[in-house]
Amino acid sequence: TPKIEFRHVGLHYFGPQGETEALRDIGFAVEEGEFVSIVGQSGCGKSTLLSLLCGLIRPTSGEVLIDGEPVTAPSPSVGFMLQQDSLFEWRTILENAVLGPEIRGGDMRAARARAETLLRRYGLEEFKHHRPDQLSGGMRQRAALARTMCLEPDILLLDEPFSALDFQTRLSIADEIGNIIRREGKTAILVTHDIPEAIAMADRVIVLSRRPGRVKAVHSISFPSAGG
Ligand code: ADP
Ligand code: ADP
Repeated sequence: TPKIEFRHVGLHYFGPQGETEALRDIGFAVEEGEFVSIVGQSGCGKSTLLSLLCGLIRPTSGEVLIDGEPVTAPSPSVGFMLQQDSLFEWRTILENAVLGPEIRGGDMRAARARAETLLRRYGLEEFKHHRPDQLSGGMRQRAALARTMCLEPDILLLDEPFSALDFQTRLSIADEIGNIIRREGKTAILVTHDIPEAIAMADRVIVLSRRPGRVKAVHSISFPSAGG
């Protein structure tokens, strides 16, 4: 069973201005541990696709499956990284990292231990008691990733996570974060309109066409060597 599968998915929005067809007959599968980028121009349905995956909306036609089961509600097994790192500036990096379990009312002792391990793994050990404004853009992104991973998701959804960063640092950070996620062995989906970023991070790139979004092309990317 693929980790994620879209089967003939169509999505129509019904609003005051009438009906909008956002996605038409979308089909693809993502295997466990695979990293897939979905690229396309603004309006091609990237956000819609992520909303379907995290159970915020239901398909008008077809099926969205995780582990072979239709997605019917938001699931704790799905984690996010959004357009801004949205770290809380008044909290330390460690306090930010345990935010998820804190909100969910999880075991805080275990959460803190996980957060410490993640921060060490991501090279942020000596910064755990610092506040986010003392960190570089790349370090902030790693801290945001630690916060997401502290919730132990199976699947990671990244919605233009680097769009707030300047052009110079963006690709190197994308590369760095891509490598970390790959090493964690998580199934990941990145949506972006930035093609170099998509290629730097993913094993495979799915191109959506515009209005209404359809799968236009699927490209596989080969890497010279694992972790190289
Ligand atoms: P992006 O291209 O960054 O995804 P958009 O401008 O397409 O941003 O959409 C921003 C937000 O507005 C999204 O949450 C989307 O669901 C919503 N949105 C986009 N188009 C419409 C629309 N025609 N009617 C209502 N909401 C919309
Ligand atoms: P992207 O993320 O690629 O920019 P979206 O998924 O936001 O694309 O939007 C896909 C299409 O659906 C666009 O035409 C957008 O205007 C429309 N849309 C998105 N959200 C809504 C909404 N809540 N209501 C109506 N139309 C929407």
